[in-house]
Amino acid sequence: MQKHADLSDFTVITPTADIAVARHGGRAKCLQRLVRLEMPVPETVALSFDAVHRIASGQMPDTAAILSAFGPSPLVSIRPSSEDPDWGGPGAILNIGMNDERHAQLIERLGQAAADTIYLRFIQAFAIDVARLDPDMFEEEVANHEAIRAALLAFEEETDEAFPQDPGVQLGETLRSMARAWEGTTARLLRQAKGAPADAGLGLVVQEMAMGLGPAESGSGVIQFADSTTGLGQITGRYLSQSQGRAALSNGDEALYLTLDERGPSLEERCPELFKELVKWGGVCRQRLREEMEIEFTIEAGALKVLDAVRIGRSSRAAVRIAVALAEDWIIPREEAIARIDPRALTELLHCQVDPRGKRDVIAVGIAASPGAATGRVVFSSAAAQASAARGEACVLVRRETTPEDIRGMHAAAAVLTERGGMTSHAAVIARGLGLPCVVGVSDMTLNRRDKSFRTADGRVFREGDVITVDGAVGEALAGEVLMLEPALDDAFRSLLSWAEEACDIGIRANADTPADAQMARNFGADGIGLCRTEHMFFEEDRLTVMREMIFANSAVDREAALDQLLPMQRMDFIRLFEIMQGLPVCIRLFDPPLHEFLPHSRDGMRELAEALDLPLSDVTRRVEALSEFNPMLGMRGVRLGITVPEIYDMQARAIFEATVEASKRGDPVVPEIMIPLVSAKREVELVKARVDAVAAAVRIEKGCDFDYRLGVMVETPRAALRAGEITHHAAFLSFGTNDLTQMTYGLSRDDAGRFMGSYVQQEVYPEDPFHTLDVEGVGELLLIGAERGRAARKDVVLSVCGEHGGNAESIAFCREAGFDYVSCSPFRVPVARLAAAQLKLGVSTGSNI
Ligand code: PEP
Ligand code: MG
Repeated sequence: MQKHADLSDFTVITPTADIAVARHGGRAKCLQRLVRLEMPVPETVALSFDAVHRIASGQMPDTAAILSAFGPSPLVSIRPSSEDPDWGGPGAILNIGMNDERHAQLIERLGQAAADTIYLRFIQAFAIDVARLDPDMFEEEVANHEAIRAALLAFEEETDEAFPQDPGVQLGETLRSMARAWEGTTARLLRQAKGAPADAGLGLVVQEMAMGLGPAESGSGVIQFADSTTGLGQITGRYLSQSQGRAALSNGDEALYLTLDERGPSLEERCPELFKELVKWGGVCRQRLREEMEIEFTIEAGALKVLDAVRIGRSSRAAVRIAVALAEDWIIPREEAIARIDPRALTELLHCQVDPRGKRDVIAVGIAASPGAATGRVVFSSAAAQASAARGEACVLVRRETTPEDIRGMHAAAAVLTERGGMTSHAAVIARGLGLPCVVGVSDMTLNRRDKSFRTADGRVFREGDVITVDGAVGEALAGEVLMLEPALDDAFRSLLSWAEEACDIGIRANADTPADAQMARNFGADGIGLCRTEHMFFEEDRLTVMREMIFANSAVDREAALDQLLPMQRMDFIRLFEIMQGLPVCIRLFDPPLHEFLPHSRDGMRELAEALDLPLSDVTRRVEALSEFNPMLGMRGVRLGITVPEIYDMQARAIFEATVEASKRGDPVVPEIMIPLVSAKREVELVKARVDAVAAAVRIEKGCDFDYRLGVMVETPRAALRAGEITHHAAFLSFGTNDLTQMTYGLSRDDAGRFMGSYVQQEVYPEDPFHTLDVEGVGELLLIGAERGRAARKDVVLSVCGEHGGNAESIAFCREAGFDYVSCSPFRVPVARLAAAQLKLGVSTGSNI
């Protein structure tokens, strides 16, 4: 073994020492801050990443020189100090330096019991964690002379060497074992999973032991000043007399509470002065380290020592509350509070969550399509879901995949689970809009509709009525009911959101189809509605029948009669949206889906329809067959329907304009935005525009009043992006529908991609699911081409994205850079998008400085 006497191997932590997070790790730096604040921190030495790396490769530092920093007969601890505390590291080793001689001294100073405990615990820790001996041989709890002798003997028998008595050897061995543990494959993979780079370094801090054992009041504990789950200011922690390290946390029965507590004795009562001193240091930490910290302390013969302080662990809701409270107390600026919250964490606040402290019995795994968690009884049809809701019973709708016919069932369900599908399949999009937990693409679940059951990969069978929980945040279904955390839309959340709104420089609108969605959008501070999918309005029971009558109409006159019935309903829909949005922009997309989606597909459904329309069943069957297409997503839908059956768009345009007149009478003037879906050619826009303009002119004359409106194009076919130049001549805005655009650019069905997306991403064919995170290289290039050609034709053309990507932080970054005016996403994603956009504007990335 080489010895290395380079003084740069270690640095004594003083207020002015050259200690840096990037070289010595977060713990070393934080300890220096505590030293600067004149806290009673025992002498500490930091070893740099380089030094630890050299140790791992066999170049040992001069351990005697390190120990000399601690005076004669030193007793020290070693703790890991990685750049980010979340990356972990080997466990602390205490009492290095203990040997027979030191044991004898400690018997004099602290008494037999304390000295025996310290020695035995050290032999055990060294044997198990450093020499890697079998833990079973070193588990004696009672510390006395015999136990120490037995442990020393066991060590000797196992290693054929005497237990090292030289503190320098003990220190060297411990350093080497910790350095090597860090470089092992398991540890590397674990920290990489938490975001650490492959070459992340480990620093180590060697600190003089504060003795938590001895005759006068001695012990150890931890204290924090905010609750880790709620974030509310509250002192929590424990203190255990005659202990070291974090023993107070694992000896719940014997440990003292910190503040006065009815459940048992407290440190505040036993040592009021020490308690006051601790509270004072807590305040200093918060003010000067600008964080809520957990302090690890030791009381050594009646004197307080602060060994360490770490940022407290925290739930998402606590993170928001802590950051906002720090900003409100002027400790950090608002911008920093914004920077400290991971936008994705906000999602958890908006929904129920599975309590991480509860048990999880995972029965199925799929794609996490819509966040939140809910428990309910399994149902296999929309009718059963509605019946369940009518009984006031929560249910989980389990389907192979959902279709527009399932919308009412989805409304009635507490959560949705589908065997097929991907991030933008029907179930996923609708569930996100409804704020409903949803897991799709659960391909290892076998559905048996006839039996009303499903079988999981491990062979368990769940039947209708069985209780399960869907955890949409992680994409899992769990057996039974589990512990939940409720949503937390508290004042702190609202403050953070309003600060983000001020900082944000790209618009965030919501995709909202119903008044409830629109209200949600407003509650979350959306800048308007970026996409109202009007077809969703036709699935209400009373409208569906009229819609079907319209589809079955044999003549233009019959069709018009059905549309006349739909007109007042649509007009009312739009009036309500305009009223809720109070002058904010509302972008209404004309009818998009293929008509067959409104028709029943089962025999029973067709029979019911035949009865309702008073038609022979054969007519209904024939019509359903006639409307079915091999490839409906590429068939007669969107503007193609608008051109072939123009009366539908005429009716919608009229409803929009009449609602505009009505709503403008009652409030601010409304300027509706009308969007044409699935455009691929300029002529399509010309034809629709001519008819919409004509309807507007007619309504102006009939109502005797003027109004403005804006007509725009949804760019969701690659051709529309490429031909944006000529298309934009007729469009005031271009809204990129990145769901369909991704589908068509990749030639990848958005409804079926879930089947292989997992293995594609795993094998790095795609870096991410392109339906989830915008493919900036391919689809993104089409966006840039479309934007550039659109702008060249019309300087003031408004550009936006209204596909699901609108709520994704990386995709927002792309849109911001491309100079888009706004993004539009499900109402529940608006806060996340808002915070992500604010962080981009402020040029900050999520995280704390500790
Ligand atoms: C899109 O295609 O991106 C879009 C927003 O429309 P839809 O999801 O309704 O097809
Ligand atoms: Mg689309």
